Amino acid sequence: MAIHAFIDFDGTVSQQDVGDELIRTFGAFEPLHSELLAGRMNVAEYYQRAVSTFTDQATPESVEAFARLQQLDAGAKALIAWFASVDIPCAIVSDGFDTYITPLMSQLGNGCNVPVFCNKLVWNGSAFTPLFPGATESCSCFCASCKRNAILTNIAVDDIVIYIGDGRSDACAVQHADVVFAKGTLAAYCTAQGIPYHHYRTLSDVLIILQTTYKHLDFRPRRQAFLARKHAFEVE
Ligand SMILES: [Mg+2]
Ligand SMILES: [Zn+2]
Repeated sequence: MAIHAFIDFDGTVSQQDVGDELIRTFGAFEPLHSELLAGRMNVAEYYQRAVSTFTDQATPESVEAFARLQQLDAGAKALIAWFASVDIPCAIVSDGFDTYITPLMSQLGNGCNVPVFCNKLVWNGSAFTPLFPGATESCSCFCASCKRNAILTNIAVDDIVIYIGDGRSDACAVQHADVVFAKGTLAAYCTAQGIPYHHYRTLSDVLIILQTTYKHLDFRPRRQAFLARKHAFEVE
């Protein structure tokens, strides 16, 4: 039995939602975002429309410069390095975009060079277009990049899944995770769904809990998560 860790990016590795900030900085966040929350479009449609509002200030260089100004959770580097030190494979699963995640992850250093599953912003020389390589119709999740599928394609059904997140796009992932760390709307979602979770404020809190759990070899499978994974493997 192997243990795998998956970490959300926006609001989890980064302090703010960098994706929201990106759209505010280079385009028009509202009224599109309120329309998204009201269910008038899905996330992929929202991103397509939001990116089409970008001004000509948005270039690969200006987006990268914007990204480098964003603050990361001070515990991110130590947590990801710890996963590597105990041979727990770790990946970033995000419904945001590679254009800001890649420079911010590289800012954490070589030890944090982990796989990233996310949407892409493609530059054609004059404008950005969003691409959704992780989109799926088989999951009912509120994301353009399905985190459940990113998890399932990287694990065996009886492996242990650690998941760390904070928001709406993490909902399908936590249903399939054994050890959940949640804050923000994800914590409220877990409470409402009866999914047990550790509440955390920063990734340093997460590391302390994981180190203790690891020392006592106390990573336990969660039956509902195992059944959900088994069901998803059978249906896919
Ligand atoms: Mg998030
Ligand atoms: Zn999903």
